[in-house]
Amino acid sequence: MRIGTGWDLHRLVSKRALVLGGVVIPSDKGEAAHSDGDVLVHAIIDALLGSLAKGDIGSHFPDTDPAYKDADSMQLLKKVLSEDLPPYHIENIDTTLILQTPKLRPHIEAIRKNLAKAMGLKLEQVSVKAKTAEGILGELGSGDAVIAQATVLIS
Ligand code: MG
Repeated sequence: MRIGTGWDLHRLVSKRALVLGGVVIPSDKGEAAHSDGDVLVHAIIDALLGSLAKGDIGSHFPDTDPAYKDADSMQLLKKVLSEDLPPYHIENIDTTLILQTPKLRPHIEAIRKNLAKAMGLKLEQVSVKAKTAEGILGELGSGDAVIAQATVLIS
C-alpha cells in the first residue's frame, strides 16, 4: 500500500464557473485558472501522483501548455488513472473543501457520486467533506478563494 496527499488553492472571480469534483455549483464566482480550475480534482490528481512518487499536476499538465487551456480536469484525472496508476488501484480517497460561500452541504452527494463514477469507485470509497473558513484567513474568509485537500490510499 502507498499513501498520497494533495492540496490546491484557487482564487474565485466573477464570470467563471465554480467546478468542484466535476460538478458545477451555483455561485456568483468561480475558480480563476488556466484549466477549468476544478480545485478538488487538482488536489486528487496531486494525491494520486504523490502516492506514486510521480511528481505533480504541474509537471504532468503544465499551465504554460495551450493544450490545457480551459481543460476539463476530469479528463486529466482519467488520464492519470489510466496511464499512471496501474498496476495499483485506489482503496479510498478522503477530501476536504474549504469554501466560505456558497454552502456546499447540498452538493456533497452529487460531488461524491460524480467522482465515484468517473474514477470507477464505489460511493463508500469516496469521501468529500466541506467547511467554511469561519470568515477569517483573508481571501478565503471573504469568499474570494477555495482550497481543497485530498488523501488517497492505493494498493
Ligand atoms: Mg489547480
